[in-house]
Amino acid sequence: MQTLSDNTYTGVGVAPGRIIGSVRQMPHPVSEPPVGERLSEETTAEQASVALRTAATAVQEALTARAAGALGAGREVLEATALMATDPMLIKAAVKLIVAGSSAERAIWDSAASVAEMLHNLGGYMAERATDVLDVRSRIVAELRGVPAPGIPTSDSPFILIAEDLAPADTATLDPAQVIALVTSSGGPQSHTAIIARALGLPAVVAAAGVTDLPDGARVFIDGAAGTITVDPGAAEVAAAAAWAATAASLAVFDGTGRTADGHLVPLLSNVGGSADAVKAAAAGAQGVGLLRTEFCFLDRDTEPTIDEQVTEYRGVFDAFPGKKVVVRTLDAGADKPLPFLTDASEPNPALGVRGYRTDRTSPGVLERQLSAIAQAADGSSADVWVMAPMVSTADEAAHFAALCATAGLTTPGVMVEVPSAALTAEAILKHVEFVSLGTNDLTQYAMAADRQLGTLAALNTPWQPAVLQLVRLTVAGSVAQGHDKPVGVCGEAAADPALAVVLVGLGVSTLSMTARALSAVGTVLASVTLAQAQELAALALASPSAAEARAAVRARLPILHELGL
Ligand code: PEP
Ligand code: MG
Repeated sequence: MQTLSDNTYTGVGVAPGRIIGSVRQMPHPVSEPPVGERLSEETTAEQASVALRTAATAVQEALTARAAGALGAGREVLEATALMATDPMLIKAAVKLIVAGSSAERAIWDSAASVAEMLHNLGGYMAERATDVLDVRSRIVAELRGVPAPGIPTSDSPFILIAEDLAPADTATLDPAQVIALVTSSGGPQSHTAIIARALGLPAVVAAAGVTDLPDGARVFIDGAAGTITVDPGAAEVAAAAAWAATAASLAVFDGTGRTADGHLVPLLSNVGGSADAVKAAAAGAQGVGLLRTEFCFLDRDTEPTIDEQVTEYRGVFDAFPGKKVVVRTLDAGADKPLPFLTDASEPNPALGVRGYRTDRTSPGVLERQLSAIAQAADGSSADVWVMAPMVSTADEAAHFAALCATAGLTTPGVMVEVPSAALTAEAILKHVEFVSLGTNDLTQYAMAADRQLGTLAALNTPWQPAVLQLVRLTVAGSVAQGHDKPVGVCGEAAADPALAVVLVGLGVSTLSMTARALSAVGTVLASVTLAQAQELAALALASPSAAEARAAVRARLPILHELGL
């Protein structure tokens, strides 16, 4: 997927924006010191213990300084981690190992492993601290080795972050005031890293092999729509970046009604991961919520959240959208979003395993309790609450889910179409439920048999693939054939691509749900075409022999994209 022509690297653009800045490379993860590593002959146990304590204090100071400059959840994470760096139990256990002959690096490695295991076994809040212990361990070892600390680097001035790929924990502390764009050499366009870049509004390019060789401080121009990284930008790039800055300001707020130029209404909804997101989405003008990823509310939990905890979280989302539609997705655990209380970490193929709705077979009761929490939260709220199950593959599963919803008193059940079998049997599925929502991220991964997290498969893993567009068409056809014209929405990342959004509307999709940041761009481009033009573009895309040709043909007919730098 990568070429370096002259001074330009090419990858896959996943979030628009044109920006110039200097590069900072994400440090390599810290490797484990060799098992059984001993103190070197020239070091005494006392010297090693002093070195360890000095390193631990340096790590604590660095984390405390970073916490002071961070906001909200990021600040709390950093403060908790800073405290852990000089935890007496951790350090004492390591010093004991040093006295017994272990090297300082190996000693802190082993003592942290024991402390983490102990915390894990305690469960609940203490178990969540186990990750902090392992994080400070890596930082102390890096300090002892004199190499950069792992995690997102800090800098006095904003920078463009380059990494092989980012772990979810890294993105939790990613501060958009510091990191102005994101480039990875791996990572696919539907990966959760790409989703987070879009949510933060950072221009981003993934699968740009070779970029990890760029030296820290190199000045580059990023085009997050074209997917290019240009080293030593010239006058043309400087002008493009300035033009983008003006466009970004004008695209900051959506006017609140999704429609084509001739007035065909297409509600533009938002994807949210909890109440804080919902408040932001409402402020950005979202017409409702098309996907509440409930698993995001509980990703850090080892145990099933209580019904009361769930009610509080869902109510927060409903309250942000009084009188508006909110589609709640039941827990989508598994694959890249493991939840220890639902998923089995030892499955050989987690993406094809017991994930999403399928966990109802292995952990009966969790789904019923979640539906009852959603019903309780909906009760007394004025939001129009719809509910849908992820990873449904058959009409029988849809029927079973609808029955569970009815028992819970939820009157608008639906399912996600993210497995090709569901698209192919949409008509039968829609006999049991009131709506479907296309999850194009997973639908693409399963239609193309290409792991959505792999940068090497990025060219396969795009919803512009003719096979994916056909599955969208068939899903809409299933709804039409079913006779009641039940709504077919899209809540995968495809909806956030303004050009593809037009194609989806042309294919007959009735609502689009996306990260709040994309609402204005999608709304602006959609308003520039009539429904008939959108249908023509959909036909053009469907008739194209490849994803790249479909995208190029449609983009060539939408000059507004170029004007806006999208
Ligand atoms: C999808 O698969 O398109 C989707 C919206 O679900 P998620 O990205 O959470 O798997
Ligand atoms: Mg999905």
